Amino acid sequence: MTEAPHPYDPNHPHDPVRDPWRAAMRRALAEADHAAATGDVPVGAVVLGPDGAPLSTGHNEREATGDPTAHAEVLALRRAAAALGEWRLSGCTLVVTLEPCTMCAGALVQARVGRVVYGARDEKAGAAGSLWDLVRDRRLNHRPEVIPGVLEADCAALLTAFFRDR
Ligand SMILES: [Zn+2]
Repeated sequence: MTEAPHPYDPNHPHDPVRDPWRAAMRRALAEADHAAATGDVPVGAVVLGPDGAPLSTGHNEREATGDPTAHAEVLALRRAAAALGEWRLSGCTLVVTLEPCTMCAGALVQARVGRVVYGARDEKAGAAGSLWDLVRDRRLNHRPEVIPGVLEADCAALLTAFFRDR
């Protein structure tokens, strides 16, 4: 007989699709915390290589650098490409605390990322299922797998607290 890995908890039912990404999302959440120091919206990202090992991290640095493109995802993608020595991130997974915007969705498609995993939905600007679904547009010939809602409540709470305290 095999035992369940965790006792049943009605608040956190076992989720075979999302559970494998929780550890990486915790890392992205820790990265998001760094953004607050410079008054940046707390969004964090991690790129995992095809073997699942972290290649790079990034957090929103728009205020810190005055760069409108310095979103967590773009920074993490650039660093992952630098680590691999090429722009193609085939088989890699981008894990980010907030649903990517149109710019970041475009960047991750350009990078040929295999999968995007995100936490909180962005109903106002999300481009991976909420307002648009750019990453799964059938007119594009590269369409990453999308896994939304990993640690969604924690990711959303971080953003809510940031905007409440401003
Ligand atoms: Zn973005």
